[in-house]
Amino acid sequence: MTKFVFAFIVSILFVSPLYAAAGDTRVAKWQNDAKAVFLLMVDDSMPSAFEIGAPELQKRGMTATFYICPGKGEYKVFHDKWENEVWRTGVVYGNHTLTHGGVRSVEHARQEIGQTTDAIYKIVPGKQPRLLSYAQPGVGPGQWKINKEQEAAILKENHLIDRPTFAGHGAVYHWQTAEQMLALADKAIASGGMEYLIIHGIERRKPMNTSFQDFWALNQDIYRAVLDGLKDRRDRGDLWITDHISYHQYLTERQTAKVQVLQADEKSIRLKLTSDADPQFYDHALTLVTEVPGDWKACQVAQGEQKASVTASDGKIQFDAAPGEVQITNGQ
Ligand SMILES: [Zn+2]
Repeated sequence: MTKFVFAFIVSILFVSPLYAAAGDTRVAKWQNDAKAVFLLMVDDSMPSAFEIGAPELQKRGMTATFYICPGKGEYKVFHDKWENEVWRTGVVYGNHTLTHGGVRSVEHARQEIGQTTDAIYKIVPGKQPRLLSYAQPGVGPGQWKINKEQEAAILKENHLIDRPTFAGHGAVYHWQTAEQMLALADKAIASGGMEYLIIHGIERRKPMNTSFQDFWALNQDIYRAVLDGLKDRRDRGDLWITDHISYHQYLTERQTAKVQVLQADEKSIRLKLTSDADPQFYDHALTLVTEVPGDWKACQVAQGEQKASVTASDGKIQFDAAPGEVQITNGQ
């Protein structure tokens, strides 16, 4: 016995072209509409950070967070470098406590952490107060005598944002080859999320002074290979390479970001970008992708006094904007 079942599926294709309206705006997941974020972190203010670390980043137009200890021996010997040169290369300082020696009490922790915040404010111009990244130093057993709640309260007083865990992210300690370290970046790209690498100094070679060598120093060639690999991924639009606070601000602002189209016609578009995040601490520009009329080519994007020229492609423009009003005009 044979049974035939005939199924006729009649599809009525209702073609209604979905024209996006001029002004429709998408907030990019990450800056520059990159697929993912990667953070480099360099701990302990060792001399290799400014001899090799910062210059190699600068050559590639990249940044990192450098966690400094302004009361530690190596820092004090080279304090002039830290105060006048290193941050000017584009790296961002984070708080790694004053001496890296541990804390005896809540009061002592307030000094160790608070004085480092003050030192960074004094060295690097900017808003005060503002958010800084914090990394608890690794110290010997029994040398960290405050609990998590006490530490969290001190971080709050100092507007410090705790960085993610060292576990699984230490160069040399967890990962030895450039391939392994770049696999972290590829993991971020695959998930559209964030990954990071924590470095404890970079190997110093003669004729440089090889004293003040950190104990998990990363081989220079591997360091350069990691930076080159990250640069390639950035240049093809996969990665936004930034400091911990910029990432934290972008993520926080983006989570509640809304774009309202105030006005849109054939000559200009006016938008309003808002976010629930406190603008005192969360003032990082977000990347917006806005639909413009099909015949627009070169556009002007203005926010207050700031103006930028942007080229439209496929009826869209991409630009960075801080919360507030944005005026987009057709033409140069
Ligand atoms: Zn450390």
